[in-house]
Amino acid sequence: MPNKYHIVLLPGDGIGPEVVTETRKTLEALTSLFDLTFDFSEYLVGGIAIDETGSPLPDDTLAACEQADAVLFGAVGGPKWADPTKSVQPEQGLLKLRKALGLYANLRPVKIFPQLIAASSLRPDVLAGVDVLVVRELTGGIYFGPRQEGSEEAYDTLFYTRPEIERVVRVAALAARGRRGKLTSVDKANVLASSRLWRQTVVRLMTDEFPDVALEHVLVDAMTMHLIRRPADFDVIVSGNLFGDIITDEAAMLAGSMGMLPSASLGDGARGLYEPIHGSAPDIAGQGVANPLATILSAAMMLRHSLDEEDAARAIENAVERALDAGYRTPDLANTALPDQTIEVVGTRAMGEIVRSHLAQV
Ligand code: NAD
Repeated sequence: MPNKYHIVLLPGDGIGPEVVTETRKTLEALTSLFDLTFDFSEYLVGGIAIDETGSPLPDDTLAACEQADAVLFGAVGGPKWADPTKSVQPEQGLLKLRKALGLYANLRPVKIFPQLIAASSLRPDVLAGVDVLVVRELTGGIYFGPRQEGSEEAYDTLFYTRPEIERVVRVAALAARGRRGKLTSVDKANVLASSRLWRQTVVRLMTDEFPDVALEHVLVDAMTMHLIRRPADFDVIVSGNLFGDIITDEAAMLAGSMGMLPSASLGDGARGLYEPIHGSAPDIAGQGVANPLATILSAAMMLRHSLDEEDAARAIENAVERALDAGYRTPDLANTALPDQTIEVVGTRAMGEIVRSHLAQV
């Protein structure tokens, strides 16, 4: 009997449905190559969920996610729901879902595809060999600490507990052990008490549980410089919520395109939420030109982290590489031709089909 996985699809708004459709078809295509099958069910989230139910995360959506092996998320938001005076916003659906599923570790790999090196604003020699995984704490820190807002004064509180730090650092250290064995912890321990607790906790955990993983500490301000000067030196980077938010966006820009970068949000246990790092791209929604590769690569992360199907994950990643090698690009990557290469610009559906045609057993 093949392994059967129950996947909840949350296409959301804008280009979300377009990129999720191509990803679903790609997962379905794997079933003829590997001993696995999928049971997909689709639910509402974000703006479309507000329109239909009044809530960005309807109860039946959350209940389905709680029962699923993994959740594949498209994107939410758009001008239709952008009024900041409204108390209900599409993005609340995603934040509530992460919190409800206890997804405290956000993983964002940034790998430079040599075929797309021209998409980045950095020099090719700086980018050669870049393969970084940023792990950001997602459910604590200053975004969730006590706060007060007034017209004359306001404050937010950066609050962490030792167990909150330990669990996310453990995720990062385990990932480092399976990669090149190096962990960079980012904090502001020269100024912040919460960062000093962060650093002490990291040192103790790494000494006790991961003596085989090399550890370094870098202050967040220095990290923003090192990341663009010598990005290839980093393997896994772990950080709290606020610093991680900034570093993940900076790291994303190494790749040059929003349309290529996947992400995973994990908690205790195997269930995870997988999504492209980009938003709903209302400027190109409905035109059939969105790049589906970030979402397709998010499905590869899902196969790896939630479903333990490493071969199928690698099959997707290899197929994406081959599609790029063959010269196919969506319009966001139209200017990435190498000097001796001709490229063909294709739409969302065609890119999905090309990836599927390159799927092969690993
Ligand atoms: P965005 O990521 O949606 O778009 C930024 C730019 O990148 C746009 O020019 C867009 O066309 C382009 N782009 C993004 N994804 C692409 C893809 N797959 N293929 C080709 N081009 C792509 O960010 P934004 O414009 O700041 O936000 C638009 C909406 O998305 C807002 O409502 C925002 O709140 C929401 N948003 C949602 C998420 C999420 O659902 N996780 C994340 C970020 C932004």
